[in-house]
Amino acid sequence: MKKLTIVIPAFNEEEVLPSTLQRLFKIEQNLVHDQLLDQSSDILIVDDGSKDRTWQIIADTNRQNTHIKGLKFSRNFGHQNALIAGMQEAIKTADVVVTIDADLQDDPDAIPTMIKKFTTGTDIVYGVRNNRDSDSWFKRTTAVGYYKTLNLLGVKLVQNHADFRLMSKRAVQTLLQYKERNLFIRGIIPMLGFKSDKVYYKRTPRLAGESKYPLKKMLAFAWDGISSLSIAPVRAVLLLGIFASLLGIIALVYSVTVKWLGLAIHGWSSLMISIWILGGFQMISLGVIGEYIGKLTTEAKKRPRFTIETKIG
Ligand code: UDP
Ligand code: MG
Repeated sequence: MKKLTIVIPAFNEEEVLPSTLQRLFKIEQNLVHDQLLDQSSDILIVDDGSKDRTWQIIADTNRQNTHIKGLKFSRNFGHQNALIAGMQEAIKTADVVVTIDADLQDDPDAIPTMIKKFTTGTDIVYGVRNNRDSDSWFKRTTAVGYYKTLNLLGVKLVQNHADFRLMSKRAVQTLLQYKERNLFIRGIIPMLGFKSDKVYYKRTPRLAGESKYPLKKMLAFAWDGISSLSIAPVRAVLLLGIFASLLGIIALVYSVTVKWLGLAIHGWSSLMISIWILGGFQMISLGVIGEYIGKLTTEAKKRPRFTIETKIG
């Protein structure tokens, strides 16, 4: 029988945590009862440097129910780091991990379906929301635009999926080989390979409390996604430089012709040509430097070159 650990990142979640834990524990116990999971299955909350009673609640709950465990960060390290820490700790003993937000905006009733897919040999099950009704107009439009942009930049993402997902032990182990500090986990998972599947659910408003992602944190996270997964912006500079230089050459031909015809104002041709050609060359140089920096970034990440799924013989 397989052991499941549900990993919950929590930052100042005193309002929702007690009911969240109760609900998730019940779902897990039902799966244990149906003999789909081992009875050692548990829940691990990562307290990401909360300033409220979050840790107190975890400690109190653990005293009554040892299946509920906690990990406390020394300060706020951010949602993505909390997820990594939780998964890293969980797979020391667990065979499968499910990550879910503390506010239960993602439907925990999707977990049994995830587990069933895992039991039939799926390594990664993405929780995918089939609506964005519970998001504000602003969040909805910016999110859709953002994911479209990422797609254009060549980043493969599962649409409408955030960090609600199931991962087998080996999938987590592979994820942990991605050593980068600049984390955008949902962008890395599709790179891992392995058999994956999706479970659809309806996203609801927060149970209580407010979003722990104010605009500033959201923007920082969005930029992390682009800059850690794509060097396309740098490439764009190079292309722009080539384009400007071409324009410069056209300007050269044009202004020399105009000069020959005696129609040009004195000094205009040389000025136009130098602006475009020099500007273009500068951008090309920046782009070339950027290409090398892009390579350095990829090297510095020390991502695994490949992942072997199975061996025979
Ligand atoms: N969270 C965290 N550290 C942070 C910010 C958020 O661990 O610095 C957790 C938070 O407690 C929640 C999850 O990340 O469990 C998602 O945050 P939230 O629900 O506030 O984001 P939203 O749904 O508004 O995007
Ligand atoms: Mg939320």
